[in-house]
Amino acid sequence: MSTITTTTTTATEQPPPPPPTHPTLIHVHRSPIPFASGAYSLVSLPAGSLFCKITGTTPARKAYTSVQTARNAHIELNSDLVYCNHSCAPTVDFDMHRMEVRVVADRDLQAGDPLTFFYPQSEWEMDQPFQCTCGAGARCRGVIDGAKKMDAAVLREYWLNPHIEEMVREREGGSV
Ligand SMILES: [Zn+2]
Repeated sequence: MSTITTTTTTATEQPPPPPPTHPTLIHVHRSPIPFASGAYSLVSLPAGSLFCKITGTTPARKAYTSVQTARNAHIELNSDLVYCNHSCAPTVDFDMHRMEVRVVADRDLQAGDPLTFFYPQSEWEMDQPFQCTCGAGARCRGVIDGAKKMDAAVLREYWLNPHIEEMVREREGGSV
């Protein structure tokens, strides 16, 4: 009712979303439902190609939005890349050593595809483990809590950041 105004209405007004950081590459679908927002590709690219460089990051403590870059280092992305959700059948890889997002090696990226990556490729232990609902069928790994508790054979199906490779090798006593 436009005639009814109370001070409480201002509390429910949402601030306008920040301007897109990758307006030619990424569409962000914003949902009021927690963890239901997501990033979608605006471009089609062949498998293995560079999607974008990762820039503008800042060192951070481990949080549900952070990405692990080394054994004891995490960053905040500070861009719309933060909306890239986890999938067990991902569309992109987050290479946190070269600071690149690349299309996965085994499948082309189509405009409209969700931009998703396999979180354990960078995360040894998730800040907030979660039950995956990625819809990848038999390929879905269920509870995602980082690479630490995942079978090496499963991890082998994905591109892994060097710090994850190293920690998996240590865990397995150098046998992988
Ligand atoms: Zn899954």
